[in-house]
Amino acid sequence: MKHYKIAAIPADGIGPEVIAAGLQALDALARRDGGFALDVTQFDWGSERYRQTGAMMPADGTAQLRAFDAIFFGAVGAPDVPDHITLWGLRLPICQGFDQYANVRPTRILPGIVSPLANIGPGDLDWVIVRENSEGEYSGHGGRAHKGLPEEVGTEVAIFTRVGVTRIMRYAFQLAQSRPRKFLTVVTKSNAQRFGMVMWDEIAAEVAQDFPDVTWDKMLVDAMTVRMVKNPRSLDTIVATNLHADILSDLAGALAGSLGVAPTANIDPERRYPSMFEPIHGSAFDITGKGIANPVATFWTAAQMLDHLGEPAAAQRMMRAVEKVCAESVMTPDVGGTATTQEVTDAVCEAIRAENI
Ligand code: NAD
Ligand code: MN
Repeated sequence: MKHYKIAAIPADGIGPEVIAAGLQALDALARRDGGFALDVTQFDWGSERYRQTGAMMPADGTAQLRAFDAIFFGAVGAPDVPDHITLWGLRLPICQGFDQYANVRPTRILPGIVSPLANIGPGDLDWVIVRENSEGEYSGHGGRAHKGLPEEVGTEVAIFTRVGVTRIMRYAFQLAQSRPRKFLTVVTKSNAQRFGMVMWDEIAAEVAQDFPDVTWDKMLVDAMTVRMVKNPRSLDTIVATNLHADILSDLAGALAGSLGVAPTANIDPERRYPSMFEPIHGSAFDITGKGIANPVATFWTAAQMLDHLGEPAAAQRMMRAVEKVCAESVMTPDVGGTATTQEVTDAVCEAIRAENI
């Protein structure tokens, strides 16, 4: 039997609620499959640790995670801790420390879930957004001068490197090639941003030469939001910068019914380091502790994790179980249902155990 070492970091807000749900479903899958087991280690890193010690995670945090096969992450963010501290104190050091440069965000409308777009249902919207996850606008370069004075200046420097852009572009073209439509949309803002973004366009054209069977087009990010809403069937695989894809994928999640169903995988495609799997949403203080957080995004990212670990059959079973339960309208309030997190989780685990799934 194969054993996978999983580091679970539930962290803040609804993070612990959805990670607990995800682990129950993973456990059901492992039992049902019989060919693998997950050895889960829990880490209590997050805002509570910050309040007590001044740091979201220990100084050797990433070194501790190094030995795991994958990281299963909840969410960070607390009302009394500045967001840049929670983000830069835990999630970004892991993504950047492990060079998880491909952030993969699939979006589909699951059966039973109603999109806010009229006349759009399951099958009409089937996208994968590839977010550059190691540089760009979130490089962490910049600074503030003359702090607090009238002449204060703040800079936020977006850094794009040929190596960084080429590798994410290759990843996106390969992913597009593996999907039935073999179609990629490259998103930039190369009219206003003349340097890094123009380089993106040029590198896209270069990489495209190696993928003659992939059709591709280009969009400016502002126009892209319109296309996503007005013509969702015209899109398939999408690649964009760290910031642009962050924004577009929240929109994608909303168009698919709720942020609560949107998953994400932070992948090191070269497999030098552990990759990290998480729901896209944050800690959702408004519903924390109410037992109504939608666990579907976390189930879906758990399926992405199983795929990455080399257990595609279990990953597909997870998604069939989730789709069955959604189709039966066992859903949380954010997607129009009345079920609790635990009721959805129980239904998914029961579906996983069922003979015919
Ligand atoms: P959010 O994603 O936490 O919540 C946005 C809205 O979506 C809220 O109304 C929330 O109730 C709803 N929602 C989110 N996930 C849901 C789920 N699983 N089920 C049902 N409803 C769900 O974003 P926010 O409110 O802008 O941010 C809250 C905190 O989370 C902030 O501190 C922010 O910095 C942080 N954040 C963290 C991450 C992350 O850890 N990756 C991502 C985004 C935001
Ligand atoms: Mn985001």
